[in-house]
This record gives sequence, structure tokens and C-alpha cells, in this order.
Amino acid sequence: MNKKKDFLRTIVENDLKSGKYKEIVTRFPPEPNGFPHIGHAKSISINFGIARDYNGHCNLRMDDTNPTKEDTKYVHALEDAVKWLGFDWGEHLYFTSDYFSQIHDYAIKLIKMGKAYVDSLCEDEIREYRGTVTQPGKRSKFAQRSVEENLDLFERMKNGEFKDGEHVLRAKIDMSAANMKMRDPLLYRIRHAHHFRAGDKWSIYPMYDFAHCLSDYIEGITHSICTLEFENNRDIYDWVLDTLELKPPRPYQYEFARLNINYTVMSKRKLLELVEGGYVSGWDDPRLPTIAGYRRRGYTPESILNFCDQIGIAKANSVVDVAQLEFCIRDGLNPKVPRVLCVLDPLKVTIENYEGSEELEAPYYPHDVPKEGSRKIPFSKEIYIEKDDFAENPPKGYFRLTPEQPVRLRHGYIISCKEVIKDENGNITEIKAEYYPDSKSGAEDTSGIKVKSAIQWVSVADAKKVEVRLYDRLFKNEAPEGIEDLNPNSLQIIKNAFIEPAVITEKPDERFQFERQGYFYTDPIDYSDENPVFNKIVGLKDSWAKKAKTKQTAPKPQPKKVQVDGEVAPMTDEQKILFEKYTNELRLNSEVSNTLARDKFLSNFFEDALCAFNCPVSISNIVVNEVARELKQAQADELKFSAGHISQLVKMIDADTISSKIAKQVFEEMAKTGENPTQIVKAKGLVQISDPAKISPIIDEIISNNPDNVAKFKAGNTKLLGFFVGQVLKKTGGKANPKVVNELVAQKLQ
Ligand code: ATP
Ligand code: MG
Repeated sequence: MNKKKDFLRTIVENDLKSGKYKEIVTRFPPEPNGFPHIGHAKSISINFGIARDYNGHCNLRMDDTNPTKEDTKYVHALEDAVKWLGFDWGEHLYFTSDYFSQIHDYAIKLIKMGKAYVDSLCEDEIREYRGTVTQPGKRSKFAQRSVEENLDLFERMKNGEFKDGEHVLRAKIDMSAANMKMRDPLLYRIRHAHHFRAGDKWSIYPMYDFAHCLSDYIEGITHSICTLEFENNRDIYDWVLDTLELKPPRPYQYEFARLNINYTVMSKRKLLELVEGGYVSGWDDPRLPTIAGYRRRGYTPESILNFCDQIGIAKANSVVDVAQLEFCIRDGLNPKVPRVLCVLDPLKVTIENYEGSEELEAPYYPHDVPKEGSRKIPFSKEIYIEKDDFAENPPKGYFRLTPEQPVRLRHGYIISCKEVIKDENGNITEIKAEYYPDSKSGAEDTSGIKVKSAIQWVSVADAKKVEVRLYDRLFKNEAPEGIEDLNPNSLQIIKNAFIEPAVITEKPDERFQFERQGYFYTDPIDYSDENPVFNKIVGLKDSWAKKAKTKQTAPKPQPKKVQVDGEVAPMTDEQKILFEKYTNELRLNSEVSNTLARDKFLSNFFEDALCAFNCPVSISNIVVNEVARELKQAQADELKFSAGHISQLVKMIDADTISSKIAKQVFEEMAKTGENPTQIVKAKGLVQISDPAKISPIIDEIISNNPDNVAKFKAGNTKLLGFFVGQVLKKTGGKANPKVVNELVAQKLQ
């Protein structure tokens, strides 16, 4: 098991060790009232993951207690999602509705014990009687009903003699409990509704608080893992199981923080609103955070699970940056998919000095992807390039084709522009160009011509016309509420894109990198060889990180000159652009920006790390110091760690999991072994100690061992504070949180 141990796994391990349970049984208990989303993926990965890791099993349970909202199509969607993510419930597929009779019997038992009563207050009165956080509630007069009367009324509720809302069954607990949930919670309500599985048999349905704990018990669940909003319900969970005096072992409830992602809505209710309102094409619209949507878009299950692992299991709610999910998707595709050429917005180029045609051999994978395979790209006199890749009046730092500047056709020749053809409105319709016969890509290039970039292209005669669907974030707002925050430009359909023929005829894969454009997936529903349709999975870089940053108006820092062989090397245009971006947008200091901008590897590395964790200052510091130092001793491709490792490291510093001092130690280890930093911290026990209860005794010991220094300090030598702090840090191997140590030492020496 290579997963770091989270608090849930710690509990599970202890319970196995102590013999509390023989086998671990978890469950994933969705309500079939909508399609599952990425939040459910997290819950699935936790519940099925724990069962797998400890050789137990995980039940898939449809929590179908609300007949008005549930449906079989959602049951199927939930099953599909669990399977697609690679998990298996074996024969353990259950429905709460299958337990309706047993749950009903337990209710009777509670009534007979005098622990439950039929209340006939109306909804408003029930709310009013409940009291407030500061004021105790008041019990309904109906609570005095006799057991016989309660049994009779409950039976008649079941038989459908009353209208919805006329009566409810409540637990008799404590109307002045500090936990408001314990103020006689509702156990059953009347609902004259058809249930998609139980039919019309029932006129009463159990509430979540009653049905869930009992379903867990009936199934022999050991660890009932749910999200934090159920924390206060835990008391009811325990009350029901304890009061019924059920035979042990019984399950216990544990809560973790639900997943929230920015620019995303995650409640099934809000997703349903988007689907039913026609704002998206269906539950599997590739812009939705549903598993079906991600699947159709081309996300892979491995990447989604990887993301769930990366964000970890916490006990405090937080919002995860959607860029982190996108990073995981990119990171999963990068080492796998073929690279191909596709032109989305074509501009015709006629190469006037070329006759005939040829086929250019080109590998599908770059050097750093350990996969083999190549295809032939047809080349001829007429080609399409991207409209954007030609500029008549290029802005500063433009590296592609201009009237003055040649460019390389990827895997092909260098061309230069001879003439720009325009229509009557001045729009460019065609470029007349020339190619250099001795510039063919690779070893055959003897032209000596320097170009600044290589662009994608396709041959007009051979390219296939394809539809490409570009997706952007569904919401323009970081914390969207609903439809009012929709991004009007979240879908762009391009009907006339052109792709090199091998993609369609050879089908080397279903997912591709369209070079310089992003990752794309053959739409599993609309794609056919006659009408190929591709979905954009994710871009090559996080484009929102740039958009979101505001321009700064402060005076511009100037690029520092560096000395190369005793001479000051001026920055190239490209480096200047980077320098400005780093100082202006990311607000790095000019020293750091300078180092990054001048080193292509470092700046790429930095930006990759940034995509995974947007913390520019800390990441840049590690990159220009530690990573740069490693690079001096090794070639770039010999580095044992990746940009992703660096972002993980910074994330741990940021979360106060480790100190910056320990981070250096972790980095050394990473550089040496290539192990991931989270694992290093775990294996070596480097987690920062911030708990005063753990630090205090160490300080006390040092104080008592150094009476002389204590006396000197008290006599006014305050510099000795540093001595004590230093001793504590030393004693903990640098693991104590320096801030906490400082405060405690100062306090104790007073
Ligand atoms: P929604 O508000 O989206 O309808 P829910 O909690 O009502 O979510 P259920 O179908 O009842 O959805 O949830 C099934 C399981 O998935 C529950 O255990 C729930 O705690 C978990 N779950 C739901 N949303 C998230 C989330 N965002 N992060 C983690 N777990 C989640
Ligand atoms: Mg729900």
C-alpha cells in the first residue's frame, strides 16, 4: 500500500489491531436523485479504497428514502461511475428500501420502549418548539401519548389513513439538548408517493437519521464515513443504535471534509437545475463536474483518483483550485498520448517553389515519453497553418511567421512569407511562401537558418475536416451560486478544423495532444470516421492563472544585466516578456524573475509547478535556489524529481505540515532518491510539531538543565532567548514549529 496514511486509515488500523472488528466493511451510500460528481468520486475513493487496503469490502448502497426525487436512471449512473473508477462492489449492492420492513420494526420497538412518539404538531410549530441555539426547546403535548395510542397512530400512518404532514414519528430524547439535532428528531414522515422500487406499499418513509444508522447496522458496516455536515447527526446515530440495544459489533460514524472546487457547483440539486433548464446538453455534458461529464470529456479514471489522493482527506472544509484537477489530468495524459497536428482556424499557405508531394516521417511521441510509434505526414504545395501563427504587424516577442521572420513547419521545412493576399475588406486570405529545400527537420537540415518556433500545419489535399469542441469553465465566477454565474463562452464549436490523416486512418489512440493546442478526446457518442468529433480535454497550460491576475501599476522593475564571460548579456525579447510577467503579474522580486526568465528550463519547470499549486513566491524560491543548484550538478533529464514534487513540497510548507528548514532536508532526499516528498515526510516522521503540549516538556527540560542561562536571561540578557529556541529546535531535529517554540519559550521564561 503506497498511500500515505490519513486519519481514517489510522482509526481503521487501530480498530483492527484492538480486535474491535474482524473485517472492515465500508459503504458508499448515495441517494439516487442525480448523477454522481467529483465529490462522490472522492467519497468512492475513500470508502472503496479503505476496504481494498484492509482486505475488507465496500457496499454500494442506494439511499432511496425519498420517493419523490429518486429514479432508476440515477441508480445506473451511480453504478457506472463506481465501475468506471475501477471499483467493484461484488455482490454487495443494496437499497435502503429493502430494509423498510426492518426499519419499521425498529420504530415499533422504540415506541414500545417509550422512546418514540407520534407528534401531530404542524411543520411550523415543530420548528418553533425546537427553540434556538441559545434557548431550549419545548416538548409537544403529544409526547405524552401512551404507548398504545402511539402504536395505533403509527400503524394508521403506515396504512395511509392520514394526509402528508398530519403526523410524524419522533424520537423522545431531549428538547433542551445543546445539540439542536437531538431535540426529539423526526424518525418517520408521511409521504403518499410512489417509490421507484417499493411501489405503493408504504405511506410512511424513514428519515435519513433513522434509516442510515440502521442500514449500516443491518449490513454489518464497521466504519460509516460521511462528510462533515453530518457531524451533529452523529449523536442521533449513536442514540438510535445504543437505545435499541443492538447486538455488537455496531458501526461508528466518522466525518471528513467534503470536496469543494472553485468555478464549480457540486450539489446535485444545482446540477439538476442546469440539466433540466437546458443550460448544458445533459448530465454528461463535458463541462459538468459529473463523472459522466468528465468521462465524455476525456478525463481518465486514473487521473481523477490521483487527484483524490493528492487532495487527501482532511477534517476542515476548504476549496480546492480547479487548476489542481486540471494539472492531474494533464499530468496523466502527458506521458501517454500521441502528439499530432491539427489546425483549428485555418489560413492557406501556398509554397510557390514546391512541386509534387512527399511524406514526412514523424514520431508520435516526444523523447521523454517511453513509447514507440510514428506516422507519415503528407506534405504538398498547399498547406493550412493556424491564422494566429502569422502576423503582418507582429507584437514584440512574436516568434512565428511574419513577412520578415521565417518559421519551421513542425516535422517539416522552414518557410518564409513572400506575399500576403487579402480580400476587399483587408482580411488576410492566403500567404504565398517559399520553402528552403535544405531545411528538412532533423539531421537533414543544413540550411543554417535560425527560427524561433515551429508551428502545426496540415496539407490541404490530405487533411481531414473535423469538428472540435472547445470547453472552458462553465462558470465565470470563482464561487458560483448558480445559473446567474454561467460563463457565456464555455463552449465553442469549430466545424472546420483540419487534422492530419493518420489520426483518423491509423487511430493510434483515442486521446491526443494536438501540438500547441492541448489534449483532445474522440467524443464517445458523436464521433464517426465520416464526421470525427474531438473534445478538448484540457489545455497545455493553465490559461486562467494569467487571466485572473490583475495588472500592477507600480513602477516597473528593470531586468538586471548578468555577466556572461565578463560581458553583460542583454535579454532576448522572449526573456523580457517572461521577466515582466514574473515581476508584474506574479510579483516575484526582480532577482528571482531575472534568474527564471533567463533560463528556459527553470521557467518551464517553475510554471509547471505553479499549475499544480498556485503559490508563486514560495515555488520560485525553491526553483531558483534548490532546483537551480541541482541543475548545476546534473543534466535536466537526470533530475530525479518533477515539478509536481516541488508543488507538493511547497504545499506542505504552506499548510504548516513541515517547516521551511525541514523542507530543505526533504528536498535533498527527493533529489537523491526521486521519492515523492509526501512519502519522505511520512517515512521519516518529519511532520512539524506545533502542539504546545508536545513542545512544552522539551522546553521545561532545557530550562531546568540550563539554570545559569535562565538566571542571565532573567537578569536582562534577552539575547539568550535565541539560545533556548535553538536548543528546542535541535532537540526536535528541527521539527518543532519555530513560531510556537518562540512564543512558548518567551512565556516560560517570564
Ligand atoms: P449533493 O449535495 O451533491 O446532492 P449529497 O451529499 O446529498 O450530495 P449523496 O448522494 O447523499 O449526496 O452522497 C453520497 C455520499 O457521497 C455521501 O457519503 C456524501 O457524504 C458523499 N459526498 C457527496 N458530496 C461530496 C463531496 N463534495 N465531497 C465528498 N464526499 C461527498
Ligand atoms: Mg443529498
